[in-house]
Amino acid sequence: MRFARMAALAVIFAVLAFPALAQTVKVTPLGGIDGEFCPQDRALVFEDPNGTRILYDPGRTVAGAEDPRLGKIDIILVSHMHGDHVGNAHNKAPNAGTCEAPDMSVSALPNSSAVNIALAKKSKIVTGSEMPPFFAAKLKANGGDPANSILVRFGGSVTVGGVRIATVSALHSNGLDPDYIGGDLGKAMKEAGIAGDVGLATGYVLKFSNGLVAYLSGDTGITADQDLVVRGHYGAKLAVMNIGDGFTTGPAEAAYVINDLVKPVSVIPSHANEVGTVKGKVRPGSKTEAFIKAVKAPAHVPLSGKTMEFDAGGKCTAGC
Ligand SMILES: [Zn+2]
Repeated sequence: MRFARMAALAVIFAVLAFPALAQTVKVTPLGGIDGEFCPQDRALVFEDPNGTRILYDPGRTVAGAEDPRLGKIDIILVSHMHGDHVGNAHNKAPNAGTCEAPDMSVSALPNSSAVNIALAKKSKIVTGSEMPPFFAAKLKANGGDPANSILVRFGGSVTVGGVRIATVSALHSNGLDPDYIGGDLGKAMKEAGIAGDVGLATGYVLKFSNGLVAYLSGDTGITADQDLVVRGHYGAKLAVMNIGDGFTTGPAEAAYVINDLVKPVSVIPSHANEVGTVKGKVRPGSKTEAFIKAVKAPAHVPLSGKTMEFDAGGKCTAGC
């Protein structure tokens, strides 16, 4: 009896003395097919130990605002306005279609899936560059609160729900499809083949309440900032790195970013634009396999619906 009480007190003391040890950030991929890593998979939900839930790049695999996997969403991050990130279309329901041929049959135009989810969940949309006025206007036009679109431009940060959010550079493009604009202007732009200007594409650095710092690359090439800013200033310990090639860094370039520039403790590959796994196992000959083999840090493949937990130091402590 006395021993049990002392043991219980010891546990309480340890948790009070080292709160970060007891707290992990939960990362849950909301991909196309449960237990797999599929071509369109981008969306990740980060849950801070304090309960704040952040949806990063909803893309096309979140089945709109009705997707039951979403739960409460406090914050939505959109790295840039391309349809596979902001969500120009999405699946009818989780697991609709196949990993190889995903269902993207539901249009989210002219709002975007990110806006529809924000309206339903009353989430804050936190973006950099020139994207906040676009989201504020869409929220307002649909009866939402434009103040829920929050700006965080390069070099600054905002704290929302106890999570510090900064944007960092991403070398990509960020044209706004005229289908989001509509009317005569949208039609004329479409015919001329030009996109709307919403500034530069971005990546993010998040600092969670347990101290974990995570880098979300967005779509990017290799940048000097990955060394100078993401590692040098922010000291990211967990990285989500896009590996798809063609549109972003491929496996070799992404591995260079991780091994020589960001140097995190753990990395989650993303945006592979391929069937990355079959029955939950990495597919031989895939870009995903090439990336995992090329990186020195442990790479944790984001299997849809499978929650991974990371401690303050960036180490995966469960679910990997
Ligand atoms: Zn993309």
